[in-house]
Amino acid sequence: NSTLTLSLANEEATVELGKKLASAIVEGAVFYMHGDLGAGKTTTTRGIVQGLGHTGNVKSPTYTLVEPYELPEKSVYHFDLYRLGDPEELEFMGIRDYFAADAVCIVEWPEKGQGFIPEPDIDIYLAYDGDARKVTLKAHNERGLQVLLTIGS
Ligand code: ADP
Ligand code: MG
Repeated sequence: NSTLTLSLANEEATVELGKKLASAIVEGAVFYMHGDLGAGKTTTTRGIVQGLGHTGNVKSPTYTLVEPYELPEKSVYHFDLYRLGDPEELEFMGIRDYFAADAVCIVEWPEKGQGFIPEPDIDIYLAYDGDARKVTLKAHNERGLQVLLTIGS
């Protein structure tokens, strides 16, 4: 199956999901993060980035659009397009160069850059579920499916 739905009881579970995703990546990956403000997109991203070896903080790159993490084993790029005005800005910043086959790219608010950013391997939908969260992951290709199979088993 190409979708996986999980309950995330607390913040730690959300971080843990990110870490599992990180350890399931074989070469690179593109994740789109969907969900309302506060749903847990940046928290999941923190898990991914820390899972790939970053030891410091992870916060959204609100004014610069992208926060790069050049880690020993991987280049990780965290995009937050919430404040993107014109998607043409993405062309000017050379957006496609970030999406190398061996890079890990995580995009919050991808709908704001629609048509200007590469397609995801996995869409991640986070939603409020009372005080907790639930998440649905949807794989779109073989690379995404491999990650879902790894974390789902
Ligand atoms: P977003 O990037 O989607 O706007 P953030 O990750 O910045 O959201 O914030 C999510 C908020 O929800 C944080 O305050 C975090 O502590 C909390 N949180 C994250 N995961 C859970 C969870 N599974 N259950 C309850 N609270 C959570
Ligand atoms: Mg965020």
